[in-house]
Amino acid sequence: MLAMLLEAPGSPLRPASIPDPLPAAGQVLLRVRACGVCRTDLHVADGELPEPKLPLVLGHEIVGEVASVGAGVDRFAAGDRVGVPWLGWTCGACRYCRAGRENLCDLARFTGYQIDGGYAEYAVADARFCFPLPTSYGDADAAPLLCAGLIGHRALRAAGEAERLGIYGFGAAAHIVAQVARHQGRRVFGFTRPEDTEGRRFALELGAEWAGPSTEPAPEPLDAAIIFAPVGALVPAALRAVAKAGTVVCAGIHMSPIPSFPYQILWGERVVRSVANLTRRDGEEFLRLAGRIPLRIAAESLPLERANEGLDRLRTGRLRGAAVLIPPASV
Ligand SMILES: [Zn+2]
Ligand SMILES: [Zn+2]
Repeated sequence: MLAMLLEAPGSPLRPASIPDPLPAAGQVLLRVRACGVCRTDLHVADGELPEPKLPLVLGHEIVGEVASVGAGVDRFAAGDRVGVPWLGWTCGACRYCRAGRENLCDLARFTGYQIDGGYAEYAVADARFCFPLPTSYGDADAAPLLCAGLIGHRALRAAGEAERLGIYGFGAAAHIVAQVARHQGRRVFGFTRPEDTEGRRFALELGAEWAGPSTEPAPEPLDAAIIFAPVGALVPAALRAVAKAGTVVCAGIHMSPIPSFPYQILWGERVVRSVANLTRRDGEEFLRLAGRIPLRIAAESLPLERANEGLDRLRTGRLRGAAVLIPPASV
C-alpha cells in the first residue's frame, strides 16, 4: 500500500510502498477513506513530541471502511464505516483507567504517534477504541470530528458553564467548538493572529459575535477562554480577558513557554488548566451531539500524496478549517 512515512522528525514525509498491515486479535483492518491533518501531527513531525515510533505513519482522524476483522472482534463487520481517534490503547488497570480517566492512562498509546495512523491506504486499529460515525457527514467532513471536534468538545466542557466564551486560534477545532457553543446558547468571542483578517471573518461567519486580534483586549470580560493556538504568551492574555472565577483552558498538546505574569491576573479564583487527550466516553458523547446539531464542517480535501502540503499550510496558517487527506482509491 501507499503510505506517507515520517522517517525522522524535521524531515518531510516520504511516499513509500509498504506491506498492507494485518489485523491482530481484537483489531480491525480499515481501508482509509479520509484522514484529517491535525496540529498534533505537526508537533510530531517537527520533533516537539518525544520518541515517536519511527518510521511512522501519522494521522489520528481516520475515517475508514472495515475491510476485515481480527479474532474476537464482534463490534464491527466488513463494510462498516468507523472512525479512529488519537487514543489508540489504554491499559485498563492503572489508577487513571480505573477512575474513568483513561485519557491520562500511564501506559496509553496514541494513533499516529506510537501506533501507525491514517496517512496511508490501510490502517489497523483496536476495535474497542473505534467509533461508529454519524451518517449525516461525508467521509471528509467526518474526519475533523475525530480530534478537532472531540478534543474541542472536551475543552468546552472544561470551560464550565461560561456564557461569554473566548476562543484563541481559529482553526479546525475552534470552527467546530464555536458552532457547538452557539448551539448551547453561549456568546463566542474569537481571537486570531493580528495579521489574520481572514480568520476573523471566518470566526464571525461561524457565529462569533466579535472577532479581533489576540493582542487586543476583549470587548467585555469573558467567563472562560479556550486556547487552541500553541502560543504560551496567550495564557496571560487570556487570563487578563477572563472575569473573576474565569477558566482558561489550554487545549493543545504542546505550547511554547508561558511567560511569567503578575499574580494579580490569576487572583480572583481564576483557573488555568490543560485538557489532555480524550476518553471513549467523550467520543461517544460528542459524536452523538454531532449527529444532532448539523455542524457545518470546513474541510479541504487533498490527495494523500500531498500530505506535506497539508502540514505546511497548517504550519503557516493558510487553511480555512481543516485539511483532510484522501487516499488514491477513495478519490
Ligand atoms: Zn491505564
Ligand atoms: Zn489531533
